[in-house]
Amino acid sequence: MLIDNHNRNINYVRLAVTDRCNLRCFYCMPEEGIKYVKRDELLSYEEMLRMMTILSENGIEKVRITGGEPFLRKGMFEFLEQLTAIDGLKQVHITTNGTLTKGKVSRLKEMGISSMNLSLDSIDKQRFFDITRRDEFETVMDTLDELLEVGMPTKINCVVMEGQNTEDILPMVALAKDKPISVRFIEEMPFNGTGDHPETLVWTSAKTKEFIQNAHPGLKKIVDEKNSTSANYIIPGFKGSVGFIAAYSRLFCGTCNRIRITPQGMMKTCLYDDGVFNVRDIMRNGATDQEVLLAIQSAIGSRAKDGFEAEQNRNNRFVSESMATIGG
Ligand code: SAM
Ligand code: SF4
Repeated sequence: MLIDNHNRNINYVRLAVTDRCNLRCFYCMPEEGIKYVKRDELLSYEEMLRMMTILSENGIEKVRITGGEPFLRKGMFEFLEQLTAIDGLKQVHITTNGTLTKGKVSRLKEMGISSMNLSLDSIDKQRFFDITRRDEFETVMDTLDELLEVGMPTKINCVVMEGQNTEDILPMVALAKDKPISVRFIEEMPFNGTGDHPETLVWTSAKTKEFIQNAHPGLKKIVDEKNSTSANYIIPGFKGSVGFIAAYSRLFCGTCNRIRITPQGMMKTCLYDDGVFNVRDIMRNGATDQEVLLAIQSAIGSRAKDGFEAEQNRNNRFVSESMATIGG
């Protein structure tokens, strides 16, 4: 088991397999994109599988594949097949923008992917374009239909942004009326690849929840899954649910059970830290499995207690990196 210095059991890894993306969501990266990591600096599939095998033998039960856009990386389906075959890894989840999975969701279901999180910030074609700077709305909606057709457990991630998509909040909630999906509203974080962001966040989770509650007074709290980052609610008569992720307010750090690995193998023990050590480097320098494990255990043994402390401890004081280099 991997237990951190605050007695939290770490059983979940978020693995960002690429920093490349085919969308340009303005809250994640600038219009011209970001400076991508060189290919040979990315963790190879072999390195990722080795690392995940070591981790799964030591208490990691769940992995989320993210990026950048994971399906932009060549050979992703073959990699996922090998990943889902690792003994001990009970759950393999994916977060995707849904632009490259059309027609392929049943293959993901068959190989045992546990669930998919689809990022969708607007259900209006023009606003989708304004936010992502790409004309992919219909493809993403087709992917959503396909996810539901094959019965893949699905969550929608929607970042709520003043002046951008607040008109979408109630239509997004309405998606959960007839569809068995969880629509989660996420606070915007400063990881936009520029370093520019407003001092204060307008659409906190509390405000978004209040806004929805005014339209749906029956909004009712349900018991959240253990270690859930979302506070979850149901609305009478709705097939799906609604969730709020206070990612900027950082209300869930106390029960954090996760670590992150960036595309170039940097391990992060908090979303807000700037990396604690590079797993790729020690593997490429010939570390044995035991040495890799010891390095991971040592990093987990000195975690910040929450995202505020992690941010305070950064070498690079101000958050300016793109979320595509972290994985969300
Ligand atoms: N490209 C995939 C996608 O968009 O789903 C996976 C990677 S993306 C970085 C993972 C998640 O991070 C997405 O749900 C996205 O909305 C979220 N995200 C990116 N930048 C964010 C920011 N500045 N604040 C809050 N969430 C952000
Ligand atoms: Fe790409 Fe996802 Fe970032 Fe949007 S949020 S630019 S889809 S990595």
